[in-house]
Amino acid sequence: MSENQTYAVTKTDQEWREQLTPEEYAVLRQAGTERPFVGEFTDTTTEGVYSCRACGAELFRSETKFESHCGWPSFYAPLAEDRVEYLEDKSLGRTRTEVRCANCGSHLGHVFEGEGYDTPTDQRYCMNSIAMTLTPAATKPAAAADLGAKSTSVGGNF
Ligand SMILES: [Zn+2]
Repeated sequence: MSENQTYAVTKTDQEWREQLTPEEYAVLRQAGTERPFVGEFTDTTTEGVYSCRACGAELFRSETKFESHCGWPSFYAPLAEDRVEYLEDKSLGRTRTEVRCANCGSHLGHVFEGEGYDTPTDQRYCMNSIAMTLTPAATKPAAAADLGAKSTSVGGNF
């Protein structure tokens, strides 16, 4: 991990260890990979936004998630290009492109190209479920609470 890279969210190794579970830490901070077909979002079709489990930055929308049958949740594009950063990874004896959260530098997974999936980009963002948190589209607590407060102002008379 490059030491002079600056992220919006910067924590010491000790702080990350305290915030994350050992499993989350191993993936997010040590670029580990969870076993295929066990991640909680592998086959999830829930509409919503996937955020970085380390810092909460929004990374992917469910609209770009597709059935890759590779064992990990797969997306054909990030929510926005500036949400992720790419690093060359030669760890397995071949060059892969590592995907990290641009907000905190945590490892998310890898992106592969030209595999022939029937998607708009022909890219597969192969992500670790444990690196992300899914916020379902149907539940937006903050917005709902806001609306409620305004529309029930009459209730203030009681
Ligand atoms: Zn992050």
